[in-house]
Amino acid sequence: MAIEKTINFDLDGTLADLYGVENWLAYLQAGDSTPYETAKPLVKMQVLARMLNNKKRQGFTINVISWLAKNSNPEYDEKVKNAKLNWLKKHLKSVEFDNIFIVEYGTPKQNLAKGFLFDDEVNNRINWKGIAFDVNNIINDLKTLTNYTS
Ligand SMILES: [Mg+2]
Repeated sequence: MAIEKTINFDLDGTLADLYGVENWLAYLQAGDSTPYETAKPLVKMQVLARMLNNKKRQGFTINVISWLAKNSNPEYDEKVKNAKLNWLKKHLKSVEFDNIFIVEYGTPKQNLAKGFLFDDEVNNRINWKGIAFDVNNIINDLKTLTNYTS
């Protein structure tokens, strides 16, 4: 079965080192979205951006699928969403994402898109309907995608 040419990236713990931000959990529990914006990249962003723009030229769709914080309310959700969009703008400015899904915590990612998923959470990978990769080798794994699509 051919895999759809769509690449989906999680953010927290996958591209963004949220859990490496000091006191990240205390911030989030206090309704402060700062760690989402200050998280350091986990991948060499220049390399990733170049690869993703190449993938787009090869006809791939590029999405982000990321959850809002556990403690959700409309005002905080808006701040978290903006923080994540700012992070993407700062670190992957040249990449034009087809969809940026920032959705309620726990939303099944397989209901939002198909194709390939990069995600640090094992349950998201298990439930995914396409091909799911962990986050240990993102750049190298990206190079293998055409093995599945062609
Ligand atoms: Mg994650």
